Amino acid sequence: MGLSKTIWSNPTELLRTQQPDNPVMFFAPTVLQATARRFIAGFPGLVTYAVKSNPDEMVIQNLVAAGINGFDVASPFEIDMIRRLAPQAALHYHNPVRARAEIAHAVAAEVTSWSVDSHSELAKLIEMVPAEGCEISVRYKLPVSGAAYNFGAKFGATVETAAELLRKVADAGFIPSLTFHPGTQCTDPMAWDAYIRAGAEICRLSGVQARRLNVGGGFPSHRLNAVAPDLDAIFALIDRVATEAFGEARPALVCEPGRGLVGDAFALAARVKAVRDDSHVFLNDGTYGNLVELPMIGVIDRVSVIAPDGRLRDGGSRDRIVFGPTCDSVDRLPGELPLAGDIAEGDYVLFHGMGAYSTATNTRFNGFGDILLATTLSLKV
Ligand SMILES: *Cc1c(COP(=O)(O)O)cnc(C)c1O
Repeated sequence: MGLSKTIWSNPTELLRTQQPDNPVMFFAPTVLQATARRFIAGFPGLVTYAVKSNPDEMVIQNLVAAGINGFDVASPFEIDMIRRLAPQAALHYHNPVRARAEIAHAVAAEVTSWSVDSHSELAKLIEMVPAEGCEISVRYKLPVSGAAYNFGAKFGATVETAAELLRKVADAGFIPSLTFHPGTQCTDPMAWDAYIRAGAEICRLSGVQARRLNVGGGFPSHRLNAVAPDLDAIFALIDRVATEAFGEARPALVCEPGRGLVGDAFALAARVKAVRDDSHVFLNDGTYGNLVELPMIGVIDRVSVIAPDGRLRDGGSRDRIVFGPTCDSVDRLPGELPLAGDIAEGDYVLFHGMGAYSTATNTRFNGFGDILLATTLSLKV
């Protein structure tokens, strides 16, 4: 990934003056810091950042500058990076399945918060991690929907198993806590309602009072023009339901957003390689690149078309089939994308809300995927 040293006033300025042939990812630190401050002010507990969603060091540094001092990490690499960039920050090692070498690495790095969702993995932690002052959060799952895709398919114990695990955690001398993830891009706040009430049920079943309840990531970013996420409404619901469900025994709350924090701080400019016979649009980025998520969680319609001279194309809107640059036929955006009717070869399609699961999962398949990262004061065009 190349890095532009200039700080641009907005994406159009770079596109017009440089006319880049590779995809450009625009990063607006002011947007990231404003979102972080909104979470810190609005969420009724500790805000941590899920590093996997975008591990760029500039992202971590800007989050730290905005006051984020906890991180959800999933691997020795992420642990070492955060220890280097934010030595004082709390690390929550919330990948519930770990090799013994990974556990040993985290113990040496003085990680004191872990998650678990099975008896076998808990046995490993009890064997290898000193209990003193150390927290283990039991991760549970429910068959609820509301998210763009279901996170319970891989991780999470049932309510009954979670109660057994919470009891074992407490008996082994660890600080007992609970954690869940409602699924990414969760636009239905009632998912949190159901999960928080189930957390209280787990405490009742086990006879253990949880010290903390981590309500996961899943906070939505703005992907569709018609669906603007309301974070404050989600925060208010979490706060109210936690008190209703737990009463006097309400645990301290934690959240670990990835997408909700970083998504809106980036926009992607992909260049139009061709408009084939006035129908299909071919871009220089696609589902093996920064648009990898779209087939899984749906298209982003917050797009603008910018001509090479910087003019915004406004020739009405027409739904187009859009392909990425590789020779693989799955390299196609889902459905059709509404694009300016006068879109032409050499134009740029600017996708908003591209900060999460984009640069982090970009591949170099078929020789594509070389992108430029550029800092910009604003993402407005
Ligand atoms: C991926 C992940 C997150 C972040 O999820 P988002 O939907 O991006 O907010 C948080 N916690 C855990 C344990 C995760 O695996």
